[in-house]
Amino acid sequence: MRRYEEVRSRIGEAAARSGGDPDRVVLVAVTKYASIAQVRELIEAGHVDYGESRMQHFIQFAAQVEDFLERHRELGGGEVPEAVRWHFIGHLQRNKVRKIIPLTRLIHSVDSLRLAEEIQNSPGQFTAPTEILVQVNTSGEKGKYGIAPAATAHVIDQIDTMLNVRVRGLMCMAPRVEDPVTLRPVFERTRELFEDIRKTGVVGSHFDILSMGMSSDYEVAVECGANVVRVGSAIFGERAEDETEAVAASAESD
Ligand SMILES: *Cc1c(COP(=O)(O)O)cnc(C)c1O
Repeated sequence: MRRYEEVRSRIGEAAARSGGDPDRVVLVAVTKYASIAQVRELIEAGHVDYGESRMQHFIQFAAQVEDFLERHRELGGGEVPEAVRWHFIGHLQRNKVRKIIPLTRLIHSVDSLRLAEEIQNSPGQFTAPTEILVQVNTSGEKGKYGIAPAATAHVIDQIDTMLNVRVRGLMCMAPRVEDPVTLRPVFERTRELFEDIRKTGVVGSHFDILSMGMSSDYEVAVECGANVVRVGSAIFGERAEDETEAVAASAESD
């Protein structure tokens, strides 16, 4: 909890430094190194947005959280939110799309036109289009997922014709570096691309999400205009296994 509060206040400060409303940034708590106990604790603290990058973990946690919320609804306890929002942030295989769609509020990681087409053609989207972000490889690293910046506007134009898919914005993952300040050009380039696409007007006013920044670099990302950050280890601790995690968690709360 202390870590969570700290991340929240740092996000607010970074947003204020960039001249924005401190509350304009949505924190997605990334659960990939978390235990289900830690996730429940955060839900009890009223936190709503959760992200996961690994398929198995995602399906397991989403089900466990749903049970937990169900119990709370029956017992009518406390401040627990009615529902949480799950974000899928990892590389998505096309044969997993059908499974992911009903569980997800926002897919951050659409990195090809073929994946968007798979979502478009996936059954079971009767109520609303699936909301997605297009992942951009702004840093130009080889072997990284994401669409090349020069191709992004064109890909978005094409996705925008798909009735079952709604493009809400862009996502980028910066390289791991020693000093996050050196990532500023990567984040700024992504922000510029985002603004350029917005200005063309093809995508409409629902194109309004810029997801960038992780534990090591979220403050720089917010200063550069991110309005969604995806933070895991800074909230839940490093890759602990379940047992060591329990120990770490009890040490934390001392
Ligand atoms: C794991 C992950 C994060 C969070 O990473 P941390 O460094 O633990 O904050 C954010 N985004 C994506 C796509 C991830 O896979």
